[in-house]
Amino acid sequence: TKWVYTFGDGEAEGRQDMRNLLGGKGANLAEMASLGLPVPPGFTITTDVCTYYYENGESYPADLNEQVEAAFAKMASIAGKRFGDPKDPLLVSVRSGARTSMPGMMDTVLNLGLNDRTVEAIAEATGDRRFAYDSYRRFIQMYSDVVLGVEHHEFEEILELYKDEKGYETDPEITAEDWQVLIEKFKERIQEQLGEPFPQEPEKQLWGAITAVFGSWRNQRAKTYRRLNNIPESWGTAVNVQAMVFGNRGDSSATGVAFTRNPSTGEKALYGEFLVNAQGEDVVAGIRTPQNISEAARIEAKSDKPSLEALMPDLYGEFIGICDKLEAHYRDMQDLEFTIEEGKLWMLQTRNGKRTARAALKIAVELANEGVISREEAVKRIDPLALDQLLHPTIDPKATRDVVAKGLPASPGAAQGEIVFDADEAEEARHEGRRVILVRIETSPEDIHGMHAAEGILTSRGGMTSHAAVVARGMGKPCVAGAGSLRIDYKAGTLSAGGKTLNKGDMITVDGATGEVLVGEVPMLKPELFDEFATLMEWADGFRRMKIRTNAETPLDARAAREFGAEGIGLSRTEHMFFEGDRIVAVREMILADDETGRRKALEKLLPMQRQDFEELFEIMAGLPVTIRLLDPPLHEFLPHGEDDIAAVAKGIGADPKKLHEKVIELTELNPMLGHRGCRLAITYPEIYEMQARAIFEAAAEAGRKTGNPVTAEIMVPLIVSKAELDILKADIVAIGEAVEKEKGVTLKYQVGTMIELPRAVLRAEEIAETAEFFSYGTNDLTQTAFGISRDDAGRFLPTYVAKGILPFDPFVSIDPEGVGELMKIATERGRKARPDIKLGICGEHGGDPSSIAFCEEVGLDYVSCSPYRVPIARLAAAQAAL
Ligand code: ADP
Ligand code: MG
Ligand code: MG
Repeated sequence: TKWVYTFGDGEAEGRQDMRNLLGGKGANLAEMASLGLPVPPGFTITTDVCTYYYENGESYPADLNEQVEAAFAKMASIAGKRFGDPKDPLLVSVRSGARTSMPGMMDTVLNLGLNDRTVEAIAEATGDRRFAYDSYRRFIQMYSDVVLGVEHHEFEEILELYKDEKGYETDPEITAEDWQVLIEKFKERIQEQLGEPFPQEPEKQLWGAITAVFGSWRNQRAKTYRRLNNIPESWGTAVNVQAMVFGNRGDSSATGVAFTRNPSTGEKALYGEFLVNAQGEDVVAGIRTPQNISEAARIEAKSDKPSLEALMPDLYGEFIGICDKLEAHYRDMQDLEFTIEEGKLWMLQTRNGKRTARAALKIAVELANEGVISREEAVKRIDPLALDQLLHPTIDPKATRDVVAKGLPASPGAAQGEIVFDADEAEEARHEGRRVILVRIETSPEDIHGMHAAEGILTSRGGMTSHAAVVARGMGKPCVAGAGSLRIDYKAGTLSAGGKTLNKGDMITVDGATGEVLVGEVPMLKPELFDEFATLMEWADGFRRMKIRTNAETPLDARAAREFGAEGIGLSRTEHMFFEGDRIVAVREMILADDETGRRKALEKLLPMQRQDFEELFEIMAGLPVTIRLLDPPLHEFLPHGEDDIAAVAKGIGADPKKLHEKVIELTELNPMLGHRGCRLAITYPEIYEMQARAIFEAAAEAGRKTGNPVTAEIMVPLIVSKAELDILKADIVAIGEAVEKEKGVTLKYQVGTMIELPRAVLRAEEIAETAEFFSYGTNDLTQTAFGISRDDAGRFLPTYVAKGILPFDPFVSIDPEGVGELMKIATERGRKARPDIKLGICGEHGGDPSSIAFCEEVGLDYVSCSPYRVPIARLAAAQAAL
């Protein structure tokens, strides 16, 4: 087996499309080398080795060593140096790289190969003793941390003590000789901690680092990240070994990161940061404030530090050329790492850049307009779920802004919540239903769970490419980073700036669009749709086959859904209307009535209210189809529970509390989900559906007259298991329809159909379709009844099923294609046998889930229906499913 792939000097064994084997970083390093870009030589150990390693008790394939040696020799010969050479030693980095980038999750070791001898050689070769010893101590610290498990603070302690002794204020005052002394102290500390010395042999260092990278695939941070991002454990990571280049060799050296387009807004302008005389992660770590790469960005940021464009115009030109080349080659916005060593530019990484949903849309639409990609491709590139980010609130421009501090607008959207300083606390607060803003000096991978739990993130240190910023953008969370004027005191639990001090628990608002931090709960606005969003949606609409409807019962939701592009209502749950205002009184009166006459009297009171509801919905939907589901839940849901409530309600409706109590007991069911609900209510009390049908028809007649748009009403009967049930109920409904037509002198356009939400209905779908004019898959109940799992109780065990791999995902979130999905297919096939043109839709929660939508396309449904805010997601997902 080939375990190792080399790259460098204008050629490579690997390719861009080998990311599964080489990891993203390795595949792209190979590709860049093949493109002739300046990439330091190196090689990639494949993800297969990682898999092998874990499957074989953490050991390596027998022939790996030999392949690594050969690749190493090739790298060394291209670099013109030798590992451990006492004159001109080769130093390398050992870099992790999974298939998809896992920012900050895995560990990289730089300057590997340094030891007591090679450090002297470096000092001599470069004529810079300070550089050499500074590199050596960095390596010792990094290697100890990542490979040996000796924590950073051990060295910080020694360093601080030493600086105090010498009376130094800052690191640059430390001389080469000082570092030499410090390195000896560092090594002593390591010996103390581990009982063995810091490894001096480069070979040993190399294998230590390689093993640490493979080992880090299963560290806690990586596991958390994978869990949150649905990355399978089985993928594994690759390891890249690469010759070092040095950005920290004085003022003609530098290191930086850049995006070929703005990752926040999507604007077509190079966007990046760099530091002169610095190495590797210094830019991201937020220790020094980085400088802008382009002059335009510097001016916009009002920075007084010179740009790369101004400092090194030739190199800037070369860099821009490479950016353009890479963007054209990958046909997407790139995220790049580069280093300049004494005036020579080196590329260290490229990948498709992470971006906000807003930027993703803008970039996709612009790339399509530039002719780089097709419109189909643009539509395919947007993650439907990411659109959620665009539906984030912003701060009301009319609100008074009590600004305490300003940082960088690191991730868009506004968020508000209580101040918390600790990731665990953020998570706890979230569990208690409190909204929080996680406030940190800077964040690290250990804070991920807290960032997830928080509404937004605020840091006092770090740039646009700091950990907080990158991770927040990925999560779609508002983030303000690097608010330098903030003083954060973790111990005291305070945050102060501009003469104000806020405490843990105080409300703040962060504005990821402006970088402002505001005191209190500032009024916010609903998100606004922008041009590229509309354009992409329009393109998507052109590709999709299924219609998108919404689940709505209030005028507010119905209007919002229309604005988001809903093409009708797929589910209007009439029971929700029964709770509005004092309707519940009439509902209870109906339930408490002793006989049909009493019930009819109470229903008489509900009729005008229901008619009003439906009329509004019909008017808003202006001729688009509106599906109204007749009463579904068991009646006891409308009754009070508990002694006090019963007494209060009895008083309110003038009923005898004892009678009310008896009624509550009488209606109590052992298993209400499978009890007297849905159409079963109307089989026993036909007058309930009769009232609702009348309300629908009268409203349809009225709305049709008012708007001039004939109403398309779809009356949906829930919980059907047999044709016989539906025959009875449909006959009642049709009779009412005829009566209303006669009374009003109109012709009504309507259909009577059913939910398919019980397995028996699936099996009898053919005969049910003889009566039903449409089917709507109620996948919530269908999932409950197919699995025999109550959704409300599933939380206790379903996560374990997913964790143990028994189920690939929660079937209440995405349709289980093998079981529930199979049922949908059966019902579709049988239903169509009886009625070839039967209209088919879905109205369960799954209607807003992209993978379920893809499944619905496969089954050939006519529409999906989802909550209003999911409508754009569904439009895009339906288009992708059709492409
Ligand atoms: P991450 O995945 O966390 O970005 P990387 O492997 O990309 O980790 O490396 C971390 C930092 O070290 C980056 O800034 C990278 O550019 C730098 N780096 C990695 N390898 C080298 C090298 N051979 N020479 C110089 N800098 C390097
Ligand atoms: Mg890293
Ligand atoms: Mg990197």
